[in-house]
Amino acid sequence: MTLPEPRKALSGMPRYVPGARGDGGPPPIKLSSNENPFDPLPSVVDTISRAAASVNRYPDMFSGDLTEALARRYGLKEDRVVVGAGSVSVLGHVLQAFAGEGDEVVYAWRSFEAYPILVRLSGATPVEIPLLECGCHELDGMADAVTDRTKVVFLCSPNNPTGLPITTKEIKSFLKRVPDRVLVVVDEAYIEFNRDPLVLDSVALLARHPNLLVARTFSKAYGLAGLRIGYALGNPEIVAAIRVCVTPFSVSGIAQAAALASLEAEAELFARVETIVGERGRVLGEVRGQGWCIPQTQGNFFWIGALDEAAALAGCLKSEVPPILVRPFAGEGVRVTIGSPQENDRMTAALAAYPSRF
Ligand SMILES: *Cc1c(COP(=O)(O)O)cnc(C)c1O
Repeated sequence: MTLPEPRKALSGMPRYVPGARGDGGPPPIKLSSNENPFDPLPSVVDTISRAAASVNRYPDMFSGDLTEALARRYGLKEDRVVVGAGSVSVLGHVLQAFAGEGDEVVYAWRSFEAYPILVRLSGATPVEIPLLECGCHELDGMADAVTDRTKVVFLCSPNNPTGLPITTKEIKSFLKRVPDRVLVVVDEAYIEFNRDPLVLDSVALLARHPNLLVARTFSKAYGLAGLRIGYALGNPEIVAAIRVCVTPFSVSGIAQAAALASLEAEAELFARVETIVGERGRVLGEVRGQGWCIPQTQGNFFWIGALDEAAALAGCLKSEVPPILVRPFAGEGVRVTIGSPQENDRMTAALAAYPSRF
């Protein structure tokens, strides 16, 4: 029997590796998915419970109330906002709308592991430009890599997994170098954790750069990873094309309500972000004091360039009781999420006891 064959693009496709989960023993310390360590706000949980009462109905297909609230928050018109089921979905829709067979999509590497998967799924060819030694994007190299076939460039700021942001000046000069017909997507999943003063609000660049799209998410700073909701801001025509590709009703009513409630509770949520940023400073100070060489991260995570020892280091942390789960990238390094103060204490103690340093 001959089975239906999937598209060629799927063969040899890299797989998204979700952050490790516990395996039934003592509950692990999960520092492997860059999640927010705080429980959801009671007000948000309340909203979610209330929204649960109408799940027999389809949600608002265009997330109208949330779109309006986001537009108001950013001082933009609603036709510049597109909401999707997590910003990963939005990025996928961007590629569906703008890239296909024969096209190229440029991004830095190592960066967010969803990029190569989404690009290959779209049928386009990934063009990966290695990060600089510091863990920064090599923006000159990325601009040089733009050809007539290039349709989209992804910039990840701060970069997952190294944590380095791209400064506003760098984004501006990149936009100057790249032709207007190329869509430049700045993926700012962690922007709320940034404290680098050279990184200004990218949304302000939209007015002058119609080929710029800014992608953000409720998954990290707003603590809604499990509900799947994110969005992009950009030129109305670009946004309209992306909206065509959004799977109908993929953003649940519960997610829309929770995101709205989270925008209303933003001050409270950003106070938590401040706590995480404070913990990041404390953890980095401690770990560097132990002799580890850690890039100046602006995300809720940090990077250990452990190279060939990445898997061993992650394995060693996992063997702690309770297990400490981090995200190894074999042969490259280990990404560690900033957790609660207690979790961070366990993690720094385990790193202190590790026999080598990177
Ligand atoms: C976590 C993350 C996202 C957001 O994912 P969601 O689909 O919104 O949960 C996007 N980009 C990067 C680089 C990320 O690390």
